[in-house]
Amino acid sequence: MAKSVYKRILLKLSGEALAGAQGTGINAQVIAQIAQDVKAAFDTGVQIGVVIGGGNIFRGVAASAQGMDRASSDYMGMLATCINALALQDAFEKAGIPTRVQSAIEMAEIAEPYIRRKAIRHLEKGRLVIFGAGTGNPYFTTDTAASLRAMEINAEVIMKATKVDGIYDKDPKKHADAKKYDTISYIEVLKQGLQVMDSTAISLCMDNKLPIMTFDLAKPGNILKAVAGENIGTVVK
Ligand code: UDP
Repeated sequence: MAKSVYKRILLKLSGEALAGAQGTGINAQVIAQIAQDVKAAFDTGVQIGVVIGGGNIFRGVAASAQGMDRASSDYMGMLATCINALALQDAFEKAGIPTRVQSAIEMAEIAEPYIRRKAIRHLEKGRLVIFGAGTGNPYFTTDTAASLRAMEINAEVIMKATKVDGIYDKDPKKHADAKKYDTISYIEVLKQGLQVMDSTAISLCMDNKLPIMTFDLAKPGNILKAVAGENIGTVVK
């Protein structure tokens, strides 16, 4: 059986990852497949924290562009991440992964409040922890939440599972000669404005020397490969 090269990781899943081809909402088959993939990685014994996005349901920036108050729309975005967190918890538990949801915005009836030491305790006891509601603050993204929580729980790496198989020097859909990076520095990502994570998230990782691994979530088995130490996408370090 594959072995993990990490003790503890933070997995960032975008909201859109749960939507599948339809682009919005939650697709039951897609989420079940993600749960199977996470289970394969979980079975290596690696401790997993998950930060989930909300873009499949609601994005604050998009709503504020249409005239809505930015802070209010961001709070709606954070609530969207909690809907996704509960959907993921259900799928993870069906796949046999004991899972707890902690929310940065208190909603005691459905999720634990975010308490750093309690999250670490859950991880040590073999439970996966899903962090909902982002950072709890408007004007941030769940990528920044992922960087922050990764640092708080002392994760060794952020695994950002996305729709593309790594970071390219130009859009591979438009340019046949686009080159994929195996590794790239934080500063190059910032300088070139590469769409890995927003600049706040990248800077936070850079200042605290936290590597970010990006890879394609749609390929079954990729999370396990990443946990086993294979570079299946691009590593920012
Ligand atoms: N959000 C926020 N603060 C946070 C995290 C998220 O205000 O700390 C809001 C923001 O409006 C964002 C939405 O929640 O657009 C959904 O998160 P995100 O866009 O990061 O999700 P993803 O792109 O990963 O699906």
